[in-house]
Amino acid sequence: MKRRSFLKAGLLGATGGTLAAPALVSAQQRTFSWKMTNAYGPGSPFYVTGPGSPTDFCDMVKKMSGGRLQIQHFAAGELIPALEGFDAVSKGIVEMNAANSYFWSGKTFAAQFFTAVPFGLNFQGMNAWLYHGGGMKLWEEVYAPFNLVPMPMGNTGVQMTGWFRKPIEKVEDFKGLKMRIPGLAGKVFSELGVDVKLLPGGEIFPALERGVIDAAEFVGPFQDRRLGLHKAAKYYYTTGWHETATVTELIINKAAWNSLPDDLKEIVKAAAAACNTISHTWCEATNAEALDDLVKNHGVIARPLPEAVVKTLKDVTVKVLEEANAKDPLVKKVHDSFMAFKANHDKWAGVSEAVYQGQIRGPLKA
Ligand code: CA
Repeated sequence: MKRRSFLKAGLLGATGGTLAAPALVSAQQRTFSWKMTNAYGPGSPFYVTGPGSPTDFCDMVKKMSGGRLQIQHFAAGELIPALEGFDAVSKGIVEMNAANSYFWSGKTFAAQFFTAVPFGLNFQGMNAWLYHGGGMKLWEEVYAPFNLVPMPMGNTGVQMTGWFRKPIEKVEDFKGLKMRIPGLAGKVFSELGVDVKLLPGGEIFPALERGVIDAAEFVGPFQDRRLGLHKAAKYYYTTGWHETATVTELIINKAAWNSLPDDLKEIVKAAAAACNTISHTWCEATNAEALDDLVKNHGVIARPLPEAVVKTLKDVTVKVLEEANAKDPLVKKVHDSFMAFKANHDKWAGVSEAVYQGQIRGPLKA
């Protein structure tokens, strides 16, 4: 038998003459048309548009699946209001939503650990916990009662403490401030006498400019400059203690997820993981230019919080977490996993990242 004929016969032998083949073809040809809603408004870089964003995710999935999974994206307000995605996906009104899990603390307090924990893990550590340290299993457990499958699909990296009209020189300077800040960090500030406000991104600048709030945090230099926060306050504190690696969350309706064939599930997981990396690197690249511009061209005073203030914030964070653990066994389970992983990861980071930042990167800059 000539080589060509042999190959042809082999291929026919492998795929021809079985009854399973037509069913397989049919499953793989099925097309899925889904909807994804988003907690962030139309045109928001990173959160809606740009490299590694949710709309980029939808495009990737469409291309990777050859059009078999098509996801129509709706920014906040285009189909449902900003913070109704959790319920919409849980009830199957839409199949997917993009947001941050700390918006759902009212549904389940433990959700907040999957966005950011004050004084928590950085991008490397957070993803190490999620992918390899039991974090994903816990996230799935926390969301199972709501018919939701979660996964990370973005990360801002370390954020900035935020914008203040007056300098913060001692912890008492926080007292009485009205500040926009979500998540566990809001609870820490609240303990220090801050009047915590939860405002969506689009409402922060007008509130700060009109004096409805005295201080605000959003993300980092690129996103904060885009909102114009530097036009309403000049003191920009760099110590990103509150959100050390803020995860963008993808949630998927459980029944919809189960209806996907295995190859489309893998495409969704791969596209989400790709966006997790691409979005984070985009933030790293754009923040450097934006911070330089804010300081050089807009009179922004960027500085770290005083050490004594950071120490107090750390002590209060421990107290807030201990109180939350005492109220909810599921919170304690997630907390204990996160902190045990962090303790171990800190040892490695101490001889790798810390050395790079202090002994290698530092002297090179000097
Ligand atoms: Ca933030």
